[in-house]
Amino acid sequence: MIRAYKFLMRPTVGQQQALTEMLRDHCSLYNGALQERRDAYRHVSRTSVTYGMQSAQLKDIRAFDPERQGRWSFSSQQATLRRLDKAFAAFFRRVKSGETPGYPRFRGVTWFDTVEFPKDGDGCRWDSTPHDPVTRVRLQGVGHVKVNQHRAVVGRVKTVAVKREGRKWFVVLSAEQEQPKPPPPTGSVVGIDLGIANFLADSNGGFVPNPRHSRTAAAKLESAQQALSRFPRVRRDKRTANHQRAVERVASLHGKVRRQRLDHAHKTALGLVREHDFIAHEDLKIRNMSKAVAPKPDPGTPGRFLPNGAAAKAGLNRSIMDAGWGVFLAILTSKAESAGREVIAVDPRNTSRTCPECGHVSAQNRPTQEKFHCQSCGHTAHADTVGALNVLRAGLVRREANPA
Ligand SMILES: [Zn+2]
Repeated sequence: MIRAYKFLMRPTVGQQQALTEMLRDHCSLYNGALQERRDAYRHVSRTSVTYGMQSAQLKDIRAFDPERQGRWSFSSQQATLRRLDKAFAAFFRRVKSGETPGYPRFRGVTWFDTVEFPKDGDGCRWDSTPHDPVTRVRLQGVGHVKVNQHRAVVGRVKTVAVKREGRKWFVVLSAEQEQPKPPPPTGSVVGIDLGIANFLADSNGGFVPNPRHSRTAAAKLESAQQALSRFPRVRRDKRTANHQRAVERVASLHGKVRRQRLDHAHKTALGLVREHDFIAHEDLKIRNMSKAVAPKPDPGTPGRFLPNGAAAKAGLNRSIMDAGWGVFLAILTSKAESAGREVIAVDPRNTSRTCPECGHVSAQNRPTQEKFHCQSCGHTAHADTVGALNVLRAGLVRREANPA
C-alpha cells in the first residue's frame, strides 16, 4: 500500500532562494520542451517529439547551461519532462475521441509549483541527517532543508516531491507500507447525514461537530478574497506590494482551510471505519440537485420573488462545506475499501421528512432545521438523526437488493 505524507519545510533564506530557482529552472525546462513539441507539431510534416527524444537531450542541455540546468537533479528534470509527456498524451487521447481540448499550455513561473524526485536517494534524500533530532531532507542544489515532521513515516520512502503553496514550502513523500490486516468485523451498521450545523449526524444519535476553527478560517478567507477582488486584474509583475500581499493571504488561508478539512475528514472517517462494517451515506450529486431552494413568489407583486435564503446558501462558506463533504466521502470510501468495510451511497430524497416510526412522509414533519416532529404519530427526534436513520435503512434495502 502506498501512503502519502506532506510536511511543512523550514528552509533558510538562502534555501528559499534556491528552491525558488529550482522551480523557475524546471519551469523553463518544461516550457522549452513544450516549445519544441509545438514547433514540431506545427511543422508541415507533423513530426512528433517523444519523451525519449527530449530526455536524450537533457545531458547536452545541462552541459550547455550549467548555471541554470546543470545544478539540478537529472531525475527531477526527467520527471518534469514526463509530466509534459503526460499532458500531451491526455491531449492526443481527447483529440482522438473527438473532443476539442486546449493545446498544452506554457506554465507561468507562478503556477509551476512542484518538482518531483521519482526515487529517494536520487537527487534527494529523505531524513538526510538521521543522527540529528531535527528531520531534514537533502535536495540537490538546495541543501539539507529542515522539515516539521509532525508524524512518523511508516514504510520505505519511494518518491519525494517539493511543493510551493503561497509562501510555504512542503515536502511530499510517498512511502510503501505493508498491507495492514483488515480489522475484525464489528457487526455494526450505520447511516450518516452530512450537515452544516454539525459535520455529520449518525443513525445512533451521535454527532461529529465541524472542525473547531473551520468557520473562522472560512470567514477570514471570504474577507481576504473580497479584499483581493478590489485590486485590478494585472500581470503578476505589475502588482503593487499591497496587491501581492492580498494574493498571498488568500493562498495561505486556502491552504489552512484545506489542511484543517483534510485532517478532520481523516479522523472522522477512521472512527467510522473502525466501528462499523457497513456505512450508508447520501448521494451528494442527487442531494445537490434536489436540495436547491425553491423560489418563493411574492404574493403582493406577481413576477417578483421574496428572499428565500438562496444567496446565503450559495456563499463561499457553503461551497467550502460542499467541497469538504466530497473530500470526506472520498477518504471514507478509500479507508473502508482497505479495511474491507462496505460503503453505500443512497438517494437522499425524503430522508429528512420520512418518519422512522410510522413511515409518514411530509415536509411538515420537519418544523425547523433541527427538529423532527411526525404529524401522524407524534414521534419527535433531532432531524439529522432521523435523516441518518432513513439513510441507513435505504442503504440496507439496497444491499439486500444487490449484495456485494
Ligand atoms: Zn410517525
